[in-house]
Amino acid sequence: MNLPFAENYKIKMVEPIYRSTREQRVQWIADANYNLFNLSSDKVFIDLLTDSGTGAMSDRQWAAIMTGDESYAGSSSYYHLKEKIQTIFGFEHFLPTHQGRAAENVLFSVLLKEGDLVPGNSHFDTTKGHIEYRKAKAIDCTIDEAFDTDSTFPFKGNVDLAKLEKVFKLQPQKNIPAMIMTITCNSSGGQPVSMANLKAVKEMATEYGVPVIFDSARFAENAWFIQQREEGYSTKTIKEIVKEMFTYADAMTMSSKKDGAVNIGGFMAMRNIDWYDKASTFNIMYEGFVTYGGMAGRDMNALAVGLDEVTTNDFLDTRIKQVQYLGNKLMEYGIPIQQPIGGHAVFVDAKKFLPYVPKEEYIAQTLAIILYLEAGVRGVEVGTLLADRDPETNDNRYPKLEFLRLAIPRRTYSNNHMDVVAAGLKNIFEIRDEIRTGLLIRKEAAIMRHFTVLLEKVKS
Ligand SMILES: *Cc1c(COP(=O)(O)O)cnc(C)c1O
Repeated sequence: MNLPFAENYKIKMVEPIYRSTREQRVQWIADANYNLFNLSSDKVFIDLLTDSGTGAMSDRQWAAIMTGDESYAGSSSYYHLKEKIQTIFGFEHFLPTHQGRAAENVLFSVLLKEGDLVPGNSHFDTTKGHIEYRKAKAIDCTIDEAFDTDSTFPFKGNVDLAKLEKVFKLQPQKNIPAMIMTITCNSSGGQPVSMANLKAVKEMATEYGVPVIFDSARFAENAWFIQQREEGYSTKTIKEIVKEMFTYADAMTMSSKKDGAVNIGGFMAMRNIDWYDKASTFNIMYEGFVTYGGMAGRDMNALAVGLDEVTTNDFLDTRIKQVQYLGNKLMEYGIPIQQPIGGHAVFVDAKKFLPYVPKEEYIAQTLAIILYLEAGVRGVEVGTLLADRDPETNDNRYPKLEFLRLAIPRRTYSNNHMDVVAAGLKNIFEIRDEIRTGLLIRKEAAIMRHFTVLLEKVKS
């Protein structure tokens, strides 16, 4: 008999979690105005809201915490991290920030102005927020396969080169200060971008004089998919693949809370010294001096170790196989999910799951609330709430896909927990035809409304 797959770690410390009753949850979610972000975490049994900063660090990372250097200027932790970033990504210059969106804020302060276009592959919500806040426009050039949840195309994060070239031809180059490749592509379902696509995009962008920025939060997972799925890469190490990927970028922004495997932190890195000099000034204003930028020395130390750990098959096999375990279980139950299964999360196709809830009543949010009531599991809506309103018309933007995202924190839950999540969804799936009404908005913010929106149930 073949020995089955198993986690390549054992557990040294545990944190108790509380299994509530349905009656408690009915009350709590009403008090939270049907917004899962408003729940205190002790009211959640299994928290799949996000994998951002919610994972477990390794003993090596905790050991590195103890040797952090808290000097304001020139901390040795900064130099450790700088060297690690240079080795892994090949960028000479780097600036730490308190998280990923802060890196976007600093870099976009240098690059973007009103009226600019920023093409890319389904920009992440904070990225889009920072672009639109500057009255510039994010243009999605993702391939059409990304929007067909049944298609098993292996690289659904890819950019459609014809769509991209159209944008490049639309405006003079001075109005396209950069384009953004999100690896992996979160908004379209945690889908990877192929090496061939990264290369082709870089070639086209160079032809039109447009720099390429990688939004790199899940770069290591992207490298794992290239290793597993793209011809010519199966014998390459993750570190070799990552190194090649970043030769096709001029700069990167990073949320260290994802594939940095730490609880807080971010950075940007680049080749261009002029960008670095300008960004340094904004970093000092918004984040902190250039050698700490919103991070403690100990956290920079833990990040340096984290970047090293995540760029291995040891780490990535365990991580991604757990995501696939949950996804496969849902498929066994006939539940419609985005295929192929992504690297950090399973995306349930809420429109197919709840065909009778009108799109004006926030289908994916409705499913997220019902799953919480059923099993105490907290997922998140990736749909109409997340898409915000059109800044010009103020109408809701209805995305092609409505997802309930179940994001899995790194090294945190067991597959028994995954079984509870799957059973909860199965129970709902069996009564889906009875679910015909959703939610309506009582109060919302102008940008990134999903975090703070207040909702109420539509009377059936
Ligand atoms: C999380 C994330 C960000 C923003 O990073 P924060 O650390 O949450 O500020 C940006 N882009 C992508 C693709 C992300 O996943």
